[in-house]
Amino acid sequence: MNNPLPLEDYRRYGRQMILDGFGLPGQLKLRSASVVVVGAGGLGCPALQYLGSSGIGKIGIIDHDKVELSNLQRQILHNEETLGLSKAESATIALRRINSSLAIDTITEALTPQNALSLLSPYDVILDCTDNAPTRYLLSDTAVALGKPLVSGAAQKFEGQLCIYNFGETGPCYRCLFPKPPAPENVGTCEETGILGAVTGIIGNLQALETIKIITGLHDGKPSLLIFSALGSPPFRSIKLRSRKTTCPACGDEKQRIGEIKDIDYVQFCGGQTPDWQKRGLVEGSTDQRISATVFKALIDREQVNVIDVRPKTEFGICHLPNSTHIPLNDIVANPSAYVPSSPGTHTYFVCRLGNDSQIAADAVKSVLPDKSEIIVKDVIGGLRAWAKDVDPTFPVY
Ligand SMILES: [Zn+2]
Repeated sequence: MNNPLPLEDYRRYGRQMILDGFGLPGQLKLRSASVVVVGAGGLGCPALQYLGSSGIGKIGIIDHDKVELSNLQRQILHNEETLGLSKAESATIALRRINSSLAIDTITEALTPQNALSLLSPYDVILDCTDNAPTRYLLSDTAVALGKPLVSGAAQKFEGQLCIYNFGETGPCYRCLFPKPPAPENVGTCEETGILGAVTGIIGNLQALETIKIITGLHDGKPSLLIFSALGSPPFRSIKLRSRKTTCPACGDEKQRIGEIKDIDYVQFCGGQTPDWQKRGLVEGSTDQRISATVFKALIDREQVNVIDVRPKTEFGICHLPNSTHIPLNDIVANPSAYVPSSPGTHTYFVCRLGNDSQIAADAVKSVLPDKSEIIVKDVIGGLRAWAKDVDPTFPVY
């Protein structure tokens, strides 16, 4: 018999081919389709897993990061054996285990305004599985320029979002919804945004599902923004979206008023480079301001001092130095006078995760010390990260 699909694919994909509305035509559409997943992390892994197992003809995976231990909590295609490997390669290995005959483009270079058009143009659908604002705008502008749908996911803490941009004739682009980038979060802090792994799994799976619906013609084409909150009841809310804005600089009537994508500085547009907080926390400063973890250790073995940990309460609960007091940074900044030691003989040392927040706390208290005060107020260079590295290797690093 002359079959349109390889014989074994009837068995492999039978359970979805017997669905009404899907059928053999649906499978053939998947087989002739190509998708590109930008970011093989928390969203990209589950999306890739379901796209790879569904029988998509060609899959591009773009990621320039390497697999780290802290990724394994949510980036489910990676594992202990692929630690240190590029995420795009690690994801490729995992997908090949599902189906050894998959056609995969493994792309380990970073997506840039200069290469975005050429890297993404071979594919029918683009998935935004990244986690930063500059790349979101770059992907949206590129999807508009290429006339392709962009299935976009986002997840942080207990929450997630899903939207298809630039879909069909009238679907809005990311710039239609968010003309201005969000204000950079966590300015001046060591705080990292938490994320529950299963939340990224839900959004990533939905991205795969929407992509499959687009390719097989099962999508109704109506633009909407889906908002998920793991702790909400109900956990899902869907917001209907308007058509594209005629005034949008990317997809509006005067298309591409933003100019050529390759010339746009997306990082600058989004408020500049995010500082390397770990490096910044390690800046030595002057000896009357900062103290190294090792010198601090010798000091607290020798004399009694105030040790104030300024991290959020939940982080203090994970691990903290013995005899340290917890006062969150915000409380200190709001009312620094309350934290000036009453007797001049008492010295105060601030500590935090990486050594950025502690500087802010120390500066705030020092700014309200009386003139010629003999009170010493310092903070620990590199914070608890440095303590774990240089003083106590058994101290948890998170
Ligand atoms: Zn637009």
